[in-house]
Amino acid sequence: MDFSYPPEAEAFRQELRTWLDANLDDASRAARLDEGDPGERLEVLRRWNRTLADAGYAAVSWPSEYGGRDAGVMEQVVFSEEMHRAGAPGTVNPIGIANIAPSIMSWGTQEQKSRFLQRMLRGDDIWCQGFSEPGAGSDLASLRTRAVLDGDHYVVDGQKVWNTFGDIANYCELLVRTDPDAPKHRGITCLLVDMKQPGITVRPLVTITGEKGFSELFFDSVRVPVESRLGPENEGWKVAMTTLNNERGGVASLHLQVRKKIRSLCEEAASPELPGGPATSDPRTRERLAQLYLEGETLKLLSDRAISASVHGRAGPEGSLVKLVWSRVEQHVAELEGELFGPEALLGARGRRRLSARSMTIAGGTTQVNKNVVAQRVLGLPRNR
Ligand SMILES: Cc1cc2nc3c(=O)[nH]c(=O)nc-3n(C[C@H](O)[C@H](O)[C@H](O)COP(=O)(O)OP(=O)(O)OC[C@H]3O[C@@H](n4cnc5c(N)ncnc54)[C@H](O)[C@@H]3O)c2cc1C
Repeated sequence: MDFSYPPEAEAFRQELRTWLDANLDDASRAARLDEGDPGERLEVLRRWNRTLADAGYAAVSWPSEYGGRDAGVMEQVVFSEEMHRAGAPGTVNPIGIANIAPSIMSWGTQEQKSRFLQRMLRGDDIWCQGFSEPGAGSDLASLRTRAVLDGDHYVVDGQKVWNTFGDIANYCELLVRTDPDAPKHRGITCLLVDMKQPGITVRPLVTITGEKGFSELFFDSVRVPVESRLGPENEGWKVAMTTLNNERGGVASLHLQVRKKIRSLCEEAASPELPGGPATSDPRTRERLAQLYLEGETLKLLSDRAISASVHGRAGPEGSLVKLVWSRVEQHVAELEGELFGPEALLGARGRRRLSARSMTIAGGTTQVNKNVVAQRVLGLPRNR
């Protein structure tokens, strides 16, 4: 199975390629790699984000009335391919642009749309998703952070965890419980919270890579105006599903990055510079590389299938399958790198990649949860008890 892209998508490719050739500078390209001072990198990425926004490329899938390009699925695929080919960083505000903005477009008031979307697009505000809690991850509907109405404010108390960008975000899409007596999916409300509010403490969590990967958020009597509620009270579960469906929609281009890693691993393994000569002179290593290559190509086919389903208006379990396979391929790449390069695979960017690959089977839906989706919706097995 392979795509032939529609002519409009190919025309868009040419236009974007020409624009990238003219506008992408080395500093922005370098900032995409996780190297150097995080504060300086963020500034370079913000600048690049504004360049993208001015040209209409910061959020191609958004409707043009909000500064996007109304790009269909195939143009979004082309956009990912070309940005990746050029080594161009994407938006500085990926969670806001891809996950939260579509919820604001669907559920927000006119005032919320005018206030938030333009600043989100330009990277003036960075957003995070305050969903998970110490006792509510896969079972998100068990969340316990409380919000009690007091006049024209909600008063929020509780804790969130694993919050990506929590240390740099100035806004948060926060899920809170507003009706503790209702069935658990029905008593949840979504609030758009200014992170500079008094009573919010952000505690970055340092991961095994030594970096601040995400944060814990503590809410102590935080007063959030009622007009910051997104959607109706106690219907936050539906808002959350809009956000999560958009998060899962982003998996189709994951193969680009991992297949690039596999290609460069094959090249490095063939290098005569390796201690002991090219690793590919060992038949077992050749077999492992071939296996990995096939895993990468299978992932691409699964992604194409997910994209095809989406083009035909069928959002099915394909995304779960892609996520499941992608996270495993990433970990297989890290394992083989470890075997080929020994202690060197523990150092620098390679070492960080190797360690952070562990989190890929958890973030955005764990392996076990995705297996449940595949078991029930692809294989038709009974629901897990
Ligand atoms: C890199 C990264 C970034 C993240 N960013 C964010 C963020 O920005 N905002 C946010 O809110 N959260 C974020 N998360 C949190 C993420 O959504 C949760 O970690 C995830 O939902 C799993 O929840 P948990 O960690 O509480 O594990 P649990 O849900 O407690 O799961 C523990 C184990 O039990 C298994 N399990 C759970 N339920 C079932 C089941 N029904 N059947 C079989 N096995 C099951 C799981 O697979 C897992 O192995 C992030 C996580 C990571 C790793």
